[in-house]
Amino acid sequence: MASYFDYNATSPVHTAAREAWLKASDEHWQNPSSLYREAGLTSQALEAARERLGDLLGVESERVVFTSGATESNNTLFSGLAKCLEPDACVAISAIEHPCVREAARAWLGRHRVLEIPVNENGVVEVEALEKLLACHQPALVSIMAANNESGVLQPWQDLLKVCRQAEVRFHTDAAQWIGKLESTALGACDYITGSAHKFGGSKGVGFLVVAHADEAFPLFHGGPQEQNRRAGTENYPGIEAMVTALESVMPKIAEVAAKQTIMRDAFIEQMQTQFVGLRVISQAAPRLWNTVLMVMPQHDNLKWLTRLSRLGFAISTGSACSSGKEGSSVVVQALGASWEELGRVVRVSGGWETTSAQWQALVAAFAEVSQSLDAGGRPGI
Ligand code: PLP
Repeated sequence: MASYFDYNATSPVHTAAREAWLKASDEHWQNPSSLYREAGLTSQALEAARERLGDLLGVESERVVFTSGATESNNTLFSGLAKCLEPDACVAISAIEHPCVREAARAWLGRHRVLEIPVNENGVVEVEALEKLLACHQPALVSIMAANNESGVLQPWQDLLKVCRQAEVRFHTDAAQWIGKLESTALGACDYITGSAHKFGGSKGVGFLVVAHADEAFPLFHGGPQEQNRRAGTENYPGIEAMVTALESVMPKIAEVAAKQTIMRDAFIEQMQTQFVGLRVISQAAPRLWNTVLMVMPQHDNLKWLTRLSRLGFAISTGSACSSGKEGSSVVVQALGASWEELGRVVRVSGGWETTSAQWQALVAAFAEVSQSLDAGGRPGI
């Protein structure tokens, strides 16, 4: 793939993470729950990885439960709440959560027990909106994502957390898109945190849920007592080691990467807006992830843009991944009140830690080339 601009969907495995996975698979492939010496060494390595992840997130390692990814973590949380809350207790989630928060909350608790916190015209959950909700309801939990997967909008989760603390309501953040892209040690103040390895150079099928207290158990699966009875199933130690190594590899330079990539992303936006009159960048006025641009193209169906760009070697997306696993219409743009017609013109571009200025510029040129072919109504060459 010449130019990959779909990092919010998934990222390639970081070189250091691949090496860590191979080493862990060679040296510590034994089951960490077994009782002989080598298995004990695997168990020690697993606990060391938990400590290292705890340090990166600013939490005590005992609060970290390893899972198969963010979808499992979110389902674990809401299924656990469904078991331990009073039958009429509710939760509140933002209007722009990933389906694995929204659908999990609705499925485990029942739709009528899931309140929705609206976003403003920039796709941001305002403190006032949360305060207003808490003035009328006493949810058992508020769940607001740290960074949105489609628009890249950064939610003011530190302020929202404070509001929840004052109201004595527990706070969860799905930080799958934040972790690995921005400084994460302050996240530890949240009661619950969700993360996913493949969003930051780890492998797919690995993630974690940080719980409020070490002894809080929300087992989703019936089975063995792994993860201190909190998640049944043999721990994927090589995957976990690779995940932690990936995060350790990207975090030391993250401020520098963020500063550089923001300049490139903004230059891309400027060039696109010059090239395409009427192109709208969603939430352009809000703080956003340094890698993400969600835009409504002035013309033509988003799938046409996507397939033609793909033929030129550029990978982009149309917004969100729906429950079928295929890309669907943008949840964020819907929450902002866009028309169906506009929804069909939404495209998302998301770069990576090492995306170059030349690649961003080549993407602008590719959009221009596709535009010419679409305007001409045919596909000469593409
Ligand atoms: N939460 C957010 C914000 C995401 O962007 C994603 C992936 O797209 C998920 C959760 C699901 O992650 P996983 O693939 O680890 O289940």
